[in-house]
Amino acid sequence: EAVLAQDVKSIANIPPDAVRLNANENPLGPCPAALDALRNVAAQGNRYPFRLTETFVRAMAEAGGVPASHVLPAAGSSDPLHRVVLAFTSPSRPLVVASPGYEAPERAARFVGAKVISVPLRKDYSHDTRAMVKADANAGVIYICNPNNPTGTVTAKADIEYVVANKPKGCVVLIDEAYIHYAKTTGSAASLVAASDVIVLRTFSKIYGMAGLRAGAALGRPDLLEKLGGFAGMNFLPATGLAAAVASLEDKKVVPDRCKAVSDVREDLFAWLERKGYGFIPSEANMVMIDGKKPGRELMAALLKEKVAVGRTWAALPTHVRVTIGTPEEMTKFKTAFEKVMDS
Ligand code: PLP
Repeated sequence: EAVLAQDVKSIANIPPDAVRLNANENPLGPCPAALDALRNVAAQGNRYPFRLTETFVRAMAEAGGVPASHVLPAAGSSDPLHRVVLAFTSPSRPLVVASPGYEAPERAARFVGAKVISVPLRKDYSHDTRAMVKADANAGVIYICNPNNPTGTVTAKADIEYVVANKPKGCVVLIDEAYIHYAKTTGSAASLVAASDVIVLRTFSKIYGMAGLRAGAALGRPDLLEKLGGFAGMNFLPATGLAAAVASLEDKKVVPDRCKAVSDVREDLFAWLERKGYGFIPSEANMVMIDGKKPGRELMAALLKEKVAVGRTWAALPTHVRVTIGTPEEMTKFKTAFEKVMDS
């Protein structure tokens, strides 16, 4: 997970032998084809990767079902996420987000002095799209994270289409699909980008296991993507990230295999939590909010003493902590530590 400078220190303090269930990464790492590709390209690291960028853009366009002109390549999704907020919100054009939600867009809005309107998720933890649309008649960006971080819950395609049809004029709908590959009951909104004010964010940091290699993209109409240009200079993704991303997209088994691996471990965890009587929010992604019935920070600290690092806590769900789905072995360690901490 992308982090702020002050978070880096606390993450750096995680003991090296701890189980890392704190950042929604993929414990499987990059797929074998991606590793081969990045090793092969490393020797050409002296050259600017013009060709490889083009190949990556074409591959992303094909994967998203959009023309190549609708793809803005980026070193992960944090960069285009921030740029969309910088470009389309302002002191007179607020940002509308859901709560609890991923905080990065809010930070970008505060940087440009834009008001942030936070709309609670519905009871089923989907985005309250009707309330988000009505939140401010002059909204500049409505941010929808699907599946949502930290709850892993989804928002139906029909609800997203409702936002697109009813949003304020000139408002951009920013749909963050960092975890979309894991979702079973909803799909990508990429098909909407050509004909509407929608920008979809994609990243290789999650299911593709490339958080440290960096690749991602924004999908959107060229006139919208053009507005992001001024917020960054001429830049490239690293050749290693590009080559690994292209190889990952070419291997059509990566997504279904990893999706199944995560969902098997997640469903086993859910069954265990239910058996033990622990509360949690059913998720479709590689993370789950678990209710520790005590302040989340205390639970995080107690688990870290047991060498299990879990993710953060949100003010809207103060007794929950976010736990990333790891390998079966990692989750066994989590279960042991969690039970010990809950019993003490
Ligand atoms: N969006 C969401 C919802 C995330 O959870 C994250 C990282 O955790 C990001 C975007 C940014 O990640 P990256 O820049 O690695 O793509």
